[in-house]
Amino acid sequence: MSESRSQPSALVIGAGIGGLTAAVALHQQGGRVTVLERAPAIEAVGAGLGLTPNSLRALDMIGLGDTVRSMRAWTAEGGLRTPSGRWLSHTSQDAAAARFKGPFVALHRATLISLLHSRLPAGAVRTDAAAEVADPGHADRRARVRSGAQEWEADLVVAADGVHSPARSVLFPGSPGPRYAGFTAWRLVVPAPEVAYAPHETWGRGVLWGTQPLHDGRVYAYAAAAVPAGQRAPDGELAELRRRFGAWHDPVPAILDAAGPGDVLRNDVHQAAAPLPAYHRGRVALLGDAAHAMPPTLGQGGNQAVEDAVVLAHHVAQRADVPDAVAAYTRDRLPRTSEVVRRAIRVGRLVTLTSAPACALRDAAVAAVNRLGPHLALRALDGIADWSPPGHQDTSGSRDSSSDGREDGASAARGG
Ligand SMILES: Cc1cc2nc3c(=O)[nH]c(=O)nc-3n(C[C@H](O)[C@H](O)[C@H](O)COP(=O)(O)OP(=O)(O)OC[C@H]3O[C@@H](n4cnc5c(N)ncnc54)[C@H](O)[C@@H]3O)c2cc1C
Repeated sequence: MSESRSQPSALVIGAGIGGLTAAVALHQQGGRVTVLERAPAIEAVGAGLGLTPNSLRALDMIGLGDTVRSMRAWTAEGGLRTPSGRWLSHTSQDAAAARFKGPFVALHRATLISLLHSRLPAGAVRTDAAAEVADPGHADRRARVRSGAQEWEADLVVAADGVHSPARSVLFPGSPGPRYAGFTAWRLVVPAPEVAYAPHETWGRGVLWGTQPLHDGRVYAYAAAAVPAGQRAPDGELAELRRRFGAWHDPVPAILDAAGPGDVLRNDVHQAAAPLPAYHRGRVALLGDAAHAMPPTLGQGGNQAVEDAVVLAHHVAQRADVPDAVAAYTRDRLPRTSEVVRRAIRVGRLVTLTSAPACALRDAAVAAVNRLGPHLALRALDGIADWSPPGHQDTSGSRDSSSDGREDGASAARGG
């Protein structure tokens, strides 16, 4: 297909959280944007997602921050527990909001996808369109993307095609792909149980469970277990969850009772084996899990994808030259996201400890830290959840804050 005015100025590969956020941001800057999505439809797939103040400030840049903040459901105390129900540490939405200058929100992934999709013009997203980068382009040559029999040219290509990104293999064929993180994860969204409960994450031996309320009367629960990759329960994943967690403290059994066999998603978790040398080549920018897959132990994969998207759009708006803009995007994002990946992997090691003495030591240390000062657990997100995008006017996120300005220190309770 030759260059013409009908060509989009930007092609986005992948209509996930990162790709759609980038598409909305570029569209709002006046770009002609087309999104190519492999799936046959933009469906309500996935489960819950925790958004932290950093990505909510990024969503402010495309006018969605307050809409998402209004969906906050976690208002009470919550914290970290043992399987018997003993509290190891406490935290609260107020403490988290004060530390990071904004609330934490858990919502269904489909809610965010649908909000983002609704901000794009009709026809901007093409489904059933698996795409591959045919030529990353150059300063004097546009990038080319192939989808089936069709070939597209674009000034900018945003490759947001997820953890097993085909685009990443084309751009960086020598770099190792993601590797198994050592644990599998289950996720489910069900009607809220009758039993009273506080949002919690509960750590056992090589297993964990978390529960977060959603704004619409449902709860999002997630669980993980350190097991070899590729295992699946012969009698279904709900039965597997009952075996592993059925005797844990409330509300875990009640949540399992509310679930049907089709409600449970299971995914083996993958993480980047090593940082990529760059997040761009030619006129293509890699974004989200495609660039920096991380375990969900800090709940930052989606949050970082949103940050990436908004920062990329910022650099594109600042520079006439796309190759310069994507190089600036790499300089901005690679150090930060590599650090988030490192930290998420470190927390992953802690929560998937399997030996009884090591778990006892870990739990004792968490309880001791909590005695020194409640909310210290929030430190896990220091330097992460306190981030603001370039040009952010501190009008929304600061509402829940007790002080002005940015500080080094972020929050804790994983949003889900
Ligand atoms: C158990 C678990 C819990 C999590 N909890 C959180 C959390 O609380 N908070 C958080 O921020 N993150 C969380 N995450 C991580 C988060 O889900 C991901 O980091 C996030 O979805 C990444 O977004 P993305 O846009 O990069 O990729 P994706 O959302 O994976 O989107 C990629 C898209 O690209 C499409 N695609 C792939 N190949 C092609 C192709 N060739 N052509 C066209 N389209 C293609 C896919 O169909 C998909 O729609 C969690 C992850 C797991 C596993």
